[in-house]
Amino acid sequence: DPRIHGIKSKIRVVPNFPKPDIMFQDITTLLLDPEAFKDTIDLFVERYRGKNISVVAGIEARGFIFGPPIALAIGAKFVPLRKPKKLPGDVIREEYVLEYGRDCLEMHLGAVKPGERALVVDDLIATGGTLCAAMNLLERAEAEVVECACVIELPDLKGRERLKGKPLYVLVESH
Ligand code: IMP
Repeated sequence: DPRIHGIKSKIRVVPNFPKPDIMFQDITTLLLDPEAFKDTIDLFVERYRGKNISVVAGIEARGFIFGPPIALAIGAKFVPLRKPKKLPGDVIREEYVLEYGRDCLEMHLGAVKPGERALVVDDLIATGGTLCAAMNLLERAEAEVVECACVIELPDLKGRERLKGKPLYVLVESH
């Protein structure tokens, strides 16, 4: 798709952020370009419209940027998957292991009903641990995860292999 090149060109790569030897993929520069930002959302909407998806689950924090416009355009609800102790209601929680230490995602109990078809959205997949935790939350709520969608994949980290056989759709790969 000719729009992909424009999207990729707007993602800034910042060396040594947030620590040495990390090449940080910065999507804030994509957001500064209304055409490239719209193309990003449109590509997801074209893929997921008419697929009977009633839940878009976005991962804090950058999944909150891309998830809601997709949800509105396909007529789905938006469910935030948040870092610990941010959600005020009763939650279910999934812990996951990071390169250094652990992290955790929470989802409000009752946000998703059994049998609902869900799309999981984040900006980037690296090791896949975050998306795996998100899928576990949705599956514990008895939703059906249709697919995971990210703007960027770091394919060298093989995160795709951690997604329990669920499909992953990405717009841009970065090596
Ligand atoms: P994973 O769990 O190893 O797949 O890491 C993915 C999570 O870390 C996502 O929530 C991303 O937002 C975040 N992340 C990791 N590396 C980057 C990066 O280079 N740019 C932006 N986000 C990143």
